[in-house]
Amino acid sequence: MDLKLEGISPELEAEIKRNVFTTTLDQVKAWARSNSLWPMTFGLACCAIEMMGTGAAHYDLDRFGSFFRASPRQSDVMIVAGTVTKKMGPLLRRLYDQMPEPKWVIAMGSCATAGGPYVKSYAVIKGVDQIVPVDVYIPGCPPNPAALIYGINKLQEKIRYEARTGQGVTEQ
Ligand code: SF4
Repeated sequence: MDLKLEGISPELEAEIKRNVFTTTLDQVKAWARSNSLWPMTFGLACCAIEMMGTGAAHYDLDRFGSFFRASPRQSDVMIVAGTVTKKMGPLLRRLYDQMPEPKWVIAMGSCATAGGPYVKSYAVIKGVDQIVPVDVYIPGCPPNPAALIYGINKLQEKIRYEARTGQGVTEQ
């Protein structure tokens, strides 16, 4: 935001612009939330191996403030990593409903995005967005940890963008 300063010296105006920034509470909260996303551990198939690798020492997801949680009550991101079967669908939805607001969903891999190699199977849901709203889709079979980190970075950008523009859910 550009400050409009009148009646002060140019030196003081330059000093103020260098040291003062203005924002809104929503943007501060979005900044904090986007840098402390806690994904729920929710591996369904082979993509989960890559998700686990993302949290391990080499890729070190912790450096983005993301720590996997074993409870939906402590999570604000659901990373759907794997094939969503029709039997698993209602359970996935129940866990999503147990997560506190605000919350987000990442569909990791072609199975979670659209059914993947099992798209013709009678037992597989053709995209987890038929059950829960998805914020970020990550292509690949499987996406590697770098792709998942990129997807999480995109989600961070989305959260901050929504707070800046007033779009989406930023307050509960
Ligand atoms: Fe496995 Fe590929 Fe489906 Fe991921 S997208 S769960 S790697 S089959």
